[in-house]
Amino acid sequence: MKVFKFGGASVKDAESVKNVARILTKYKDDKPLVVISAMGKMTNALEEVARAFYLKQDDVSEKLNFVKDFHSNFLKELFEENHPVFDAVSNLLVEIEWALENEPRPDYPFEYDQIVSVGELLSTTIVSAYLKEIGIDNDWLDARDVVKTDNKHQSAIINWELTTSCIKEKVNTNRLTITQGFIGCTSENFTTTLGREGSDYSAAIFATVLGAKKLVIWKDVIGVLHADPRYFEDAQKVEKLSFQEAIELAFYGASVIHPKTLQPLKRNRIPLQVRSFIDLEQKGTWIAEDEAIVPETSFYILKKNQTLLSISASDLDFIVENHLSAAFLTLAKYNAKVNLVQNSAVSCYFALDVDDLQIDGLVEELSKDFKVKCVRGLDLMTVRHYKNEEVDKILEGKDVLLTQKNKTTIQVLHK
Ligand code: ADP
Ligand code: ASP
Ligand code: MG
Repeated sequence: MKVFKFGGASVKDAESVKNVARILTKYKDDKPLVVISAMGKMTNALEEVARAFYLKQDDVSEKLNFVKDFHSNFLKELFEENHPVFDAVSNLLVEIEWALENEPRPDYPFEYDQIVSVGELLSTTIVSAYLKEIGIDNDWLDARDVVKTDNKHQSAIINWELTTSCIKEKVNTNRLTITQGFIGCTSENFTTTLGREGSDYSAAIFATVLGAKKLVIWKDVIGVLHADPRYFEDAQKVEKLSFQEAIELAFYGASVIHPKTLQPLKRNRIPLQVRSFIDLEQKGTWIAEDEAIVPETSFYILKKNQTLLSISASDLDFIVENHLSAAFLTLAKYNAKVNLVQNSAVSCYFALDVDDLQIDGLVEELSKDFKVKCVRGLDLMTVRHYKNEEVDKILEGKDVLLTQKNKTTIQVLHK
């Protein structure tokens, strides 16, 4: 069997859903398990709802109305009036309304997960109903019944043993199954999320447990390119990649694949195909064990909105192991993802992805033990298999704050 994953861009409007249905019609005999993300930019919109609720802002309903209107317009384009899907969608939205009537817990990640996860429940409900409407029978699976996690909200860790037994018990591989990416559930039945862009990872979990022949991730690009096409002109497609190289690229932030996706696939030798949902003639990029990079190329990766934190001991003492371990524990507590570390005798620098809402708390806590400086809004460029002259050209005129390199990889933090 095969596992397919469709991201937000592939279900961003009614036409896109029809396109997904065309693809699933073409591959209907494969009876894939299909993992789908929230529609378009709905995760961002729901994040705004969660944030406004948590901060007790006045515009929570306005923000929720945006989400409601988006889905209701969507439905009107796909279904006749009085179709039962209207009720199913409105029930899901009412669940958010109920959650918003309570006082927010002083735990943003928890509140985030309860609200933001609804995006995937909405999208899969709509796609599953549309497929049935056009005669493609399918099972809608609530991923929370099978993807079991710990309670680390916003970046929950999979309980593989339980997840394996639940997926094996509940998925019928002889039928087309539609399920959600990104979401899971704790043993206390609270919804969790696996981290932004986590649907790729969900798809890898299903593929691994079900022993899929391959995982196909359908994208709005023709495959993995040698650079992010949003920031680099003339990004070229890569035909083949090894798991190891793809893991490196994802680790450094090539946002075309979620970093956690590749390890379970590699361990279980399940190849990954990244291909276009627009141009079905294109076979995309094939990622498997021991594939050389074809064609041989440098890869450019840009991570935006980085925060540079520098810490130094208040007494100007050397920064040593116990300082570093304390600092890392605090960073983990605030869900800060460390993308680069550089140490000098008296300071340590971290380039971080950290939620705006967490920065003040993080800086305050670190300031108890260290002198802390913080610069926000930076870019981190990583080049794999770099050539010095190419890197110099790209950095011309840029204000470089940190550089780190080894034989294969250079990272540059700049304004
Ligand atoms: P999804 O709809 O699955 O969530 P994403 O938007 O997360 O899709 O991922 C696809 C996007 O990733 C592309 O539109 C492209 O802008 C971006 N991207 C970043 N780096 C690369 C790369 N190296 N190759 C291809 N796409 C990339
Ligand atoms: N909808 C979630 C997000 O936008 C998960 C995903 O799309 O992979 O981050
Ligand atoms: Mg995405």
